[in-house]
Amino acid sequence: MRNQQTLAAAVTCSGIGLHSGQPVTMMLRPAPPNTGVVFVNKGDAITSLLASIEHCVPTELCTAIDGNGFQVRTIEHILSALAGLEIDNVYIDVMGSEVPVMDGSAAPFVHLIQSVGVIAQERRQPFLKITAPIEVSEGARRVRIEPSVTPRITYTIHYDHPLIKTQTYTHDCSPHSFEKQIAAARTFGFLHEVQALWARGLGQGGTLDNTVVLSKDGVMNQAGLRFLNEFVRHKILDLIGDFSLLGMSFIGHIIAERSGHALHTRLVRQILEQPEKWVLLNMEPLAEETRPVAHIPRRQSSPVALQAS
Ligand SMILES: [Zn+2]
Repeated sequence: MRNQQTLAAAVTCSGIGLHSGQPVTMMLRPAPPNTGVVFVNKGDAITSLLASIEHCVPTELCTAIDGNGFQVRTIEHILSALAGLEIDNVYIDVMGSEVPVMDGSAAPFVHLIQSVGVIAQERRQPFLKITAPIEVSEGARRVRIEPSVTPRITYTIHYDHPLIKTQTYTHDCSPHSFEKQIAAARTFGFLHEVQALWARGLGQGGTLDNTVVLSKDGVMNQAGLRFLNEFVRHKILDLIGDFSLLGMSFIGHIIAERSGHALHTRLVRQILEQPEKWVLLNMEPLAEETRPVAHIPRRQSSPVALQAS
C-alpha cells in the first residue's frame, strides 16, 4: 500500500497522431491528490475530461474517451506509462484530439516522466482487491481477473505467423518491471491490415518508425524486434493502459487470451458492476480493509481546477 503520486514538474513532448497523421503537442503537469488522470483540451475553450471508464467510447484500433465537448484518442500508451510508473494524478494538455504515437511504445513517455521524477502526495492511493473471479469473453477471446496476493498480468496471443505463433508472458506489476520489460514493446500490425487502414483514411501517421509491420514471414522494420516476444508484451502494455480506466490500483491476476481494447474495457465495467467480488483497501479515513461497497467514490470529472503550467 502506498500514497498517491504525481509528477515533480511539467514536461512536454511532440509527435504525430497515429490515426490522424497530424502533429500533436502534449504536456503532462502535476495535479493535486484525488485528481486522477485528466485530459485538458486547450482549444477555443479550455475543457477537461477524466480518463475513466464512463467516458470510454468504442473506436477502432485504439482507446478513446469522449465527453465535456471533446474526444481524445489513442490514450492507451500514455495511460499505460502513468499506471506502470504508479502516477495517479496528472493533467494532460493535448493540442488536438489524439495523443502523439511517438515510437509506438510507452518508452518515450517513461523517459519523459523520469526526466522530472515522481513525488509522493499526502493522500493514500485506493486499491481494488479482487476476491472472486470475474470474466468476459467473446468466442475464443477472453479476459478474466482472479484473486492474487499481488497484481499480475498473464497474456496469451495466437497468430498464424512464423514470428508469433503462440506467445504467453506474465508481468508482475511494478514500476521497475514495467520500465524494463513492457514499456519498450511497440504497436504491431500486418502489412495487409496496414494497407487496408490507409485505404480507409485510418492509421495515417503509421510508419515503420512507430509500428512493427509484419510481412508474410518476417518484419519490415530494418532494426528488427526489441524483444523476441515484443508482440505479447505490447498487448500487456495496452491492457495496463485500458485497465487504468478503473481509476484506482488493483490487486488481482488478469489473464487474457486473444483479447483487445474492447474486451479489456468490458472487464473494467464488469468489475464495477460486481462489487460483491472485490474489496477496497487503503481508503481514507477508514481502516486498512473495508467491506465491499456498492459504489466507488467517483473522482470529480468536471469542473477541474486548472493550474497554470
Ligand atoms: Zn498499443
